[in-house]
Amino acid sequence: MRLHRLVAIALLAACGWPLTARSEPVTIKGKTYASWTDYFRSAEFIQNGLRCGTPEPVWSSTPGSKPEGVAASPGDCSLGLTNPSGEYQPGSVVVIPVVFHRLESATGQGVFPDSLVRTQVDVLNEDYRAIAGTPGAPGEDTRIEFRLATTDPGGNPSPGWTRTLNEFWFNDQPDPLNGNYYDELAWDPFHYLNVYTLSPEAPGGVVLGYVPWFPQNGPVGSNEDGVRCLWNAFGRTSANAPYDKGRTVTHEVGHYLGLLHTFQDGCGTATQPGCFSTADLICDTEPDDQFHGGCPVNSSGCGDPDPIRNYMEYTDDLCMNNFTPQQARRIVCTIRHYRPDLYEAGIVAVSGPGPRAATSRLAQNVPNPFGPSTELGFSLPSAGRASVVVLDLGGRAVRTLASALFPAGQHSVRWDGTDDRGQRLAAGVYFYRLVTAEGSENRRMIVLR
Ligand SMILES: [Zn+2]
Repeated sequence: MRLHRLVAIALLAACGWPLTARSEPVTIKGKTYASWTDYFRSAEFIQNGLRCGTPEPVWSSTPGSKPEGVAASPGDCSLGLTNPSGEYQPGSVVVIPVVFHRLESATGQGVFPDSLVRTQVDVLNEDYRAIAGTPGAPGEDTRIEFRLATTDPGGNPSPGWTRTLNEFWFNDQPDPLNGNYYDELAWDPFHYLNVYTLSPEAPGGVVLGYVPWFPQNGPVGSNEDGVRCLWNAFGRTSANAPYDKGRTVTHEVGHYLGLLHTFQDGCGTATQPGCFSTADLICDTEPDDQFHGGCPVNSSGCGDPDPIRNYMEYTDDLCMNNFTPQQARRIVCTIRHYRPDLYEAGIVAVSGPGPRAATSRLAQNVPNPFGPSTELGFSLPSAGRASVVVLDLGGRAVRTLASALFPAGQHSVRWDGTDDRGQRLAAGVYFYRLVTAEGSENRRMIVLR
């Protein structure tokens, strides 16, 4: 018996995993392809841009320059611009705990060996850390690392993945009896990156992956937050060329961390500072006006060679090999302002305070930007003195909103845009600062008039 199993394993090793074999036909939208690779190389797939199903960023309708996104705050890495300031240069390594949720159909689709999960984590680290000697070496080191979650939200030991057999969920649909998969399966999305492998469908066919929104469009931390990846384009050795090197997850995690497609909104402005607020909001990605399949090394859409090797393109997995330095800064900025809780306990964050449970925290004001008034939330781990002060751009305190003893827990103060003398302040950017015995924390907000 044991010998037979060994033989079977040897055969599998020699032939490739049978469920992802190249010869298996696949039917999508009523059309049958000889293999997944045939589907990936088909005109339907490439021309419909099915490499990525992430929805377009949501802009407001403000006329003039590119507007802020709906939840665009603070402005340093909103959907309106990227601040290339050195304060966002990748510094301390940030470790993001990841949980992979494998959804399976009753017919065996969605199933892959556990070893594929580890190869996917390896690819993420090679690409985001630009590890020497790996395919990701040519890129910028973002100082972001990914680690399989070793404990679940309840503190129980975990291998870092879950498996669920559900036909609806595998097809990215709600189960009439059990609701949405993410409502059942998500691990606290404030603190874990949730990646789901399944069969994500779009109007044009099956897409390789998507995130439901940019963190700047939120709602960050809700159950639906996270990355989706087609089960057959997952991991380094999925056998389904040309999306068999794990770069779908690299690309979608890029969106999850605030990056736009390199071809977003056409060529944009080529020179600084306009290139920080047009197209992909990044100046050191060559301008591009359309996505590309394959690896067209000589393509040139906006007068420069196109950035076909960037992870935020649509090219083949083997073609991609980099994030740029400014993309790395936008990632750091996004984590700092939009996903501040997304790092492993005990690991130093990009900047600022430690885990929510252990220190005071200042929340982003809501709404922001704001007209008549806004609410500033903060939390205290223990009772003590706390103050909340509004500062102008020059750092001068213009309004003290609170200075008192507070019990432990969540608190909020409202600000109506007036100074300490009750006079309305001009429109523009202001800071607010929480000061406690542990230190201080600042955030930005925008006053509209
Ligand atoms: Zn995309």
